[in-house]
Amino acid sequence: MSFQSTIPPPVLPPLDPATSRILIVGAGVFGLSTAYHLQEDGFKDITILDKADELPALDAASTDINKVVRSIYADSFYTRLARDAIARWKEPMWEGCYHESSVLLIGRALTDKSYENDFAEGARVTLLPNAEKIRSAFPDSLHRIPEHERPLQHRLLGDFSNYTGYINLDGGWVEATRSVKILLGIVIARGAKVESGKEVLTLLNSNADGSGYTCGAMCVDGSMYCADQVILAAGSWTASSFPGLELDQRCLASGQSLAFLQLTPEESERYRKSPVVMDFRTGFYVLPPNKDNVIKTGLHAAGHTHMVTPSAFRFSFANATLVPRKISTPRTVLSHPEGSDGLRDCLRVVYPDLAEKPWAGTRMCWYTDSPDSDWVIGQFPGDPGLFLATSGSGHGFKFLPNVGRIVVDILRGRADATTEAKFAVDRGLSEALNTERVDKYPEELVPEELCGPEDMLP
Ligand SMILES: Cc1cc2nc3c(=O)[nH]c(=O)nc-3n(C[C@H](O)[C@H](O)[C@H](O)COP(=O)(O)OP(=O)(O)OC[C@H]3O[C@@H](n4cnc5c(N)ncnc54)[C@H](O)[C@@H]3O)c2cc1C
Repeated sequence: MSFQSTIPPPVLPPLDPATSRILIVGAGVFGLSTAYHLQEDGFKDITILDKADELPALDAASTDINKVVRSIYADSFYTRLARDAIARWKEPMWEGCYHESSVLLIGRALTDKSYENDFAEGARVTLLPNAEKIRSAFPDSLHRIPEHERPLQHRLLGDFSNYTGYINLDGGWVEATRSVKILLGIVIARGAKVESGKEVLTLLNSNADGSGYTCGAMCVDGSMYCADQVILAAGSWTASSFPGLELDQRCLASGQSLAFLQLTPEESERYRKSPVVMDFRTGFYVLPPNKDNVIKTGLHAAGHTHMVTPSAFRFSFANATLVPRKISTPRTVLSHPEGSDGLRDCLRVVYPDLAEKPWAGTRMCWYTDSPDSDWVIGQFPGDPGLFLATSGSGHGFKFLPNVGRIVVDILRGRADATTEAKFAVDRGLSEALNTERVDKYPEELVPEELCGPEDMLP
């Protein structure tokens, strides 16, 4: 899509914190962080709508036992922003959700740009130039084990031959759903209206023929909300929920595999002090056990699309002249309760013994991908009433404390030109490839290849 129009966009008065009505669609990381930072700027009239009956939404990308917090980025913009987020995660408002376990990156050359960026920003990083050094980054409990468990010795840790890496002590993981709940509670306590069970069907336009600007939203139940500014933060549903915006590629829903292992308390103690491990050869990552002795593993890769034609109902609201087409649409735990296998071989590289355990659960969780992995934050071209804050591209969660600051700065015209251009909805993307991922193009989901009952605990 070109987003080009010959008609100049209407000009609206600047937003006024005291009087402007803000309507946010979506109560995930992007919606809530935006609401919080709008409140920091003094905005009083904020309404957040979410389609889920209960919040945080069970199938939102933001809802999860935990997420990785790393400043390991090849793009120094994110390194700096992640280090700012890490400092904020340590503030009392997050009630200890952040756990600084350290992050171990393996599978990249030692001259890696992310190491340079971390080092330049003052992160506590150490290069690990061979297998022995990598193994030494794991706790003693995985090296020194009691006599009677000796046969385990060779299976607890991978041998990491032909791997190099580095460890960053300034990073770890965060309890995801708990921190979302905390922020939800804070924005409500500061006066935001949050309404669940409100699926937005279409945006309202100031002109009946759709030639004006967005001035509100109508929900599936027929309720209408008027606003001076609508902010779409609908995550992986953005493209399929609002087909008329033609965001199919800039906000591509891609399904990513997660699998969970249930450890006994004794097993858990052995892995408790492990770093988060990220294998950049495969996109695999594994977190230390949480308080319930559950280990989460996942793949940060191209993932899967799930191409579906949205209902004619949605298209009719979007634009009468639009030809219905297939758009990648989340297929979530609520509609299809199974996940994907294929993580076992990757887990074997790090923790061979754990790779033999059955999964206690699997999940397909949906990224909202832009082609260059940069978020989509900015005014919708030609429509000053509509603003987008989305396309987390699989790395947005760690920025819950501060991504809303960027959203609000761009919204209020305070961001510098580089930041504005980096996230602009209509930035040039024709040559872009997802810079963070191992395999660059998602494949269509094949449900028959998903994890079956034999992979699961009885
Ligand atoms: C498997 C997986 C692992 C990840 N791991 C990490 C990690 O380790 N570290 C990290 O930093 N990031 C990680 N991420 C990325 C991070 O989770 C996302 O970038 C972030 O949560 C996206 O937030 P969001 O607000 O855009 O979307 P969501 O959290 O999905 O929120 C969107 C909300 O919009 C609502 N909604 C949708 N359509 C409508 C509608 N029409 N009307 C009303 N409401 C609507 C939904 O119900 C939902 O609540 C991961 C993502 C996934 C899927």
